[in-house]
Amino acid sequence: MTDLFPPNLSERPAATPMHAPQVTCRYCGSTPATDAVFQQQTGMVIMRQMRAYPGPFCRNCGLSVFRAAMSHTLGVGWLGLISLLLFPITVIQNLLARRKVGKLAAPVPPAGSTVMPALPGRPVFLRPLSYLILLPVLLLGLGAWMSANDTPENQVGKCITVLADDNVDFVSCSQRHDGVIISVVDRDASCPASAIAEVERMSGDLNRDGGKKLCVGEG
Ligand SMILES: [Zn+2]
Repeated sequence: MTDLFPPNLSERPAATPMHAPQVTCRYCGSTPATDAVFQQQTGMVIMRQMRAYPGPFCRNCGLSVFRAAMSHTLGVGWLGLISLLLFPITVIQNLLARRKVGKLAAPVPPAGSTVMPALPGRPVFLRPLSYLILLPVLLLGLGAWMSANDTPENQVGKCITVLADDNVDFVSCSQRHDGVIISVVDRDASCPASAIAEVERMSGDLNRDGGKKLCVGEG
């Protein structure tokens, strides 16, 4: 009987598989390795400096470069306006690249190699430099806290002194002063009869002040 069916595919001679050249670590030659780029950002107040560390990386060399670049970026990468804005992007890029190299199996150096994979070193949060990132976080938090506490109502009980240009300044009540804030009223309302003066805050946000004025009593 004539075989009408094409020969079974498995009976064909096996095609020679085309091996892609194996990716090896740029630093130590080990496998497995993967392509990744770590970024190190240096904030320079007005400018910023970026240094890229391209791979391919084995797991150990990748971790080693990640930890050094990330610690440096956390330490001084935020110093400056543009740097601070782009800081989160650099951090996220590094974390994504870190995740990629972290998935690799332990590196195996090529036979006869004298170059060993790097030691990853201390984790980012065991490097003191990393903690400089807390500085802008604390300053921003302090600024927000002070701003939230700078309401007209919070001025009651504070002492003022009248300056030569008729502006007033807050002073400690233990110092010589010209009056004390006794109440807060709407800008178009009257201060109580006991008030000797009224003060409108010119600096600061009028919307936030809600059109209030401060009533000054003797004190
Ligand atoms: Zn390596």
